[in-house]
Amino acid sequence: MFITLFNFNFSIQNPSIMSKKATNQLQDLQYFGEFGGINPSISDSSTYTFLSAKTMFDTFEGNTEGCYLYSRHSSPSNLYLGEALAALEGTETANVYASGMGAISSVIMQLCDAGDHIVSSRTIYGGTYAFLKNFVKKFAVETSFIDITSLESVEASINSRTKVIYCESVSNPLLEVADIEALATLAKKYGIPLVVDNTFSPLSIAPANLGADVVIHSLTKFINGTSDCVAGAVCGTTDFCLSLKDVNNGAGMLMGSTLDSLRAASILKNMRTLHIRMQKHSQNALFLAQKFEEYGFRVAYPGLKSHSGHETMKKQMHNEYGFGGLITMDVGSLENANAFMELMQTEKLGYLAVSLGFYKTLFSAPGSSTSSEIPLEEQAAMGLSNGLIRFSIGLDHDIERTYKMMKDCMVRLGIEPNPVSA
Ligand code: PLP
Repeated sequence: MFITLFNFNFSIQNPSIMSKKATNQLQDLQYFGEFGGINPSISDSSTYTFLSAKTMFDTFEGNTEGCYLYSRHSSPSNLYLGEALAALEGTETANVYASGMGAISSVIMQLCDAGDHIVSSRTIYGGTYAFLKNFVKKFAVETSFIDITSLESVEASINSRTKVIYCESVSNPLLEVADIEALATLAKKYGIPLVVDNTFSPLSIAPANLGADVVIHSLTKFINGTSDCVAGAVCGTTDFCLSLKDVNNGAGMLMGSTLDSLRAASILKNMRTLHIRMQKHSQNALFLAQKFEEYGFRVAYPGLKSHSGHETMKKQMHNEYGFGGLITMDVGSLENANAFMELMQTEKLGYLAVSLGFYKTLFSAPGSSTSSEIPLEEQAAMGLSNGLIRFSIGLDHDIERTYKMMKDCMVRLGIEPNPVSA
């Protein structure tokens, strides 16, 4: 058994009950503005006054509650958003960051010292992959990238220096589904924290309730839902979140990727419709995935019986929010993918753009965009073919019309079903 740095201590709960509870808790959160406003006042200050020098000193030492010092450390607006995210994920608390990568890098730097080792899923967002593969080498931290769906591979990669097991609940871009409960059991056996990026499946999956120790979000995506900013979050125990803010050793505090209060306030407002948006994203994605699969395309969507993670997803998801808004489809070649995406954009079916969680459908070819940090031979090994398009399905009111229009684009371009892409 290896020794953990923090006392991570969540018990495993029924996913269905917990997700309902999370939505209700979110609904019940109430913060009033200064003059009785129905939205909380936005903290429009970088620094805060103290009536006595002693209170200022005590605040530095972390011995005062409810006192604010400096907005890189915390601010009322960031705390409100953090509380909403903690309610969403069923964790004790949450910190918010200026981006998803700000959250990820802070967690990794907090948990690892020079010479440590990380076990990570090999199918993760390209920026995270680059951070874990290249950047942490500066600190002599090494990462083993493994197939996260093979518990044997995960266990075989753990060594005495391993300080983090890292995965995405539903992975970017291949939509592999991690068995979080099984991974958490393994992580606990070795006393290593399990860190899960839940960006693709807010509300559908609640990793902390399945045993994950730290849950990360890129708020840039579904949670904010308006594609107007970048932001991130770390949900976890009070101990761990406070450690990230520590003025002497906290990676969040010292690397400085704090979210601005104005943005925190706008994300909190957008988050209130997350439950409705996730249902619609999931409904629309399931419809298109089924239709394109029937038509003869190789479609990856956790809601399809053909998907390798279908049963795992069903076991740990909350049905009400569906299988998520992302699908990938192979159209045979990068040339086909590019032509199809350009025509769909011309036909106003969505935007040729990276990112996800917007009201319009967004599409990109991950091999040449969001996963381009991953070397070509590794892309091939993980099944990331060059004709693959990743779709973040929008909130289209008439999804049957969307399907017909997309199919029409394919026919016009001569893209046939059953394409084979390298
Ligand atoms: N995690 C996942 C799964 C992502 O898809 C992304 C970005 O695409 C990130 C993290 C990074 O988030 P951000 O762009 O907000 O830094």
